[in-house]
Amino acid sequence: MSEEHFKNVISHCKEYGFVFPSSEIYDGLAAVYDYGQNGVELKKNIREYWWKSMVQLHENIVGIDASIFMAPKVWKASGHVDGFSDPMIDNKDSKKRYRADVLIEEYQEKYRVKNQKEIDKAKARFGDTFDEAQFVATNPNIARNNATIAEIDVKLKEGLESGELDKVRDLILELGIACPVSGSKNWTDVRQFNLMYSTQMSATDGESQIYLRPETAQGIFVNYLNVQKTGRMKIPFGIAQTGKAFRNEIVARQFIMRMKEFEQMEMQFFVRPGTEMEWYAYWKEHRLKWHKNLGTDAGKYRYHDHVKLAHYANAAVDIEYDFPFGFKEVEGIHSRTDFDLKQHEEFTGKKLQYFDNETNESYVPYVVETSIGLDRMFLVLMSNSLQEEDLGEGNSRTLLKLPAALAPYQCAILPLTKKDGLPEIAKKIMKDLSLEFNCFYEEKDAIGKRYRRQDAIGTPICITVDHDSLTDNSVTLRFRDSMEQRRVAIAELEHIISQEVSMKTLLKGLL
Ligand code: ATP
Repeated sequence: MSEEHFKNVISHCKEYGFVFPSSEIYDGLAAVYDYGQNGVELKKNIREYWWKSMVQLHENIVGIDASIFMAPKVWKASGHVDGFSDPMIDNKDSKKRYRADVLIEEYQEKYRVKNQKEIDKAKARFGDTFDEAQFVATNPNIARNNATIAEIDVKLKEGLESGELDKVRDLILELGIACPVSGSKNWTDVRQFNLMYSTQMSATDGESQIYLRPETAQGIFVNYLNVQKTGRMKIPFGIAQTGKAFRNEIVARQFIMRMKEFEQMEMQFFVRPGTEMEWYAYWKEHRLKWHKNLGTDAGKYRYHDHVKLAHYANAAVDIEYDFPFGFKEVEGIHSRTDFDLKQHEEFTGKKLQYFDNETNESYVPYVVETSIGLDRMFLVLMSNSLQEEDLGEGNSRTLLKLPAALAPYQCAILPLTKKDGLPEIAKKIMKDLSLEFNCFYEEKDAIGKRYRRQDAIGTPICITVDHDSLTDNSVTLRFRDSMEQRRVAIAELEHIISQEVSMKTLLKGLL
């Protein structure tokens, strides 16, 4: 995928009512976006797929909905007031600001791309007999590139973990990294920049500074005991939540990839200390399965182990997707130890322990979390689904090949003409199917044109009511991907649509 494709995704999102710049008539607000009439449906469906797979399909996971505002001390305890910052660096010539660690990671990525090219070349040469694992283990160029990546990892980690940020700057200079805008290597020092937004809780008391939550996780930690006791939850169990989070991102760009206001879908899984690595492995695998179940190319996803562990983690991995601008994180799986609950115990003086009937002991549970950005997942699906399909003889169509159950509309109901009683039949079908599915209704324009419009917003099935429907009580189904047309009885519609496009069908792939 290319930058060109990314531009197409952004303009498609705008043109077809998926995503608009926020406050656009005021020239927009940097790194803030609004979801339009189709975007809100896709977003809701992704959220539902996540919620059902996490909560409904796991008997030991329940959900909550915590507030965005929390007692300010929560963020002191969690480490966000003192530690939730990014190392930033400015280029003196372009005056552009960058995350120092990201500049270095992007430099490393070039070596990974080189490796992939070696692999692709060899694959093409050796064909079916190609043994990728053996090739990767023995090829000297790949070994050299990997050594370079590893060496940089060590130095970056050293600088970030020790807090000696001049080491990070030295590394940028040593690698000869230039500003992508000015092309110069004229860099400032590296400084830490806190990402939390704050405001005042009360209009009269200037002292009461309060934060907009930068992650949803803390709402779960502070409610852990409430849920455990009232829900009579037995370890291991999980608490899931979706909701808005806010970060004053230094470099907010790449469309909805990195926003200042975004939505997270998080699940904290509470486990017996000592079992966290088993659960970490479980969730690592389970979450990738969730992504692949959407039909995306397996090669588009990869795991990326964290070099620098956050202050709360003893293991962490990202699930990355090959966006048009390269592999980037969509989801993180973190083994957070008992850090957060212990901190809240310390700051509140309240016990947050669990009594384990099986071992007859009390302990502060360990936590494994899965944390995915809903907006990033939206971008994964848009990038992966949008294509221009060549239909031969100079014709092509714009196709949004979304997973059927997640599409804004599951079906479109299209009477061939506006008269002769066809709209009446179509409206009746609409009334019945709307109880279960989001259905689009349209009478205007030639049928071919209407099909194309549905292709572009990802509607998997069109139902066409024609003159024969008046006598044979049947309609034509037209499938988005194959463009195949099939005649079916109206009485069977609900069953067929359900088989093809329901959330149930999608969820079955996870079992
Ligand atoms: P990054 O390294 O890309 O800044 P992160 O490691 O800070 O991400 P987490 O704190 O692990 O991200 O947050 C969990 C998920 O929330 C991420 O995997 C991502 O999908 C999403 N997310 C984080 N920050 C943003 C943002 N500014 N805009 C959109 N989504 C975000």
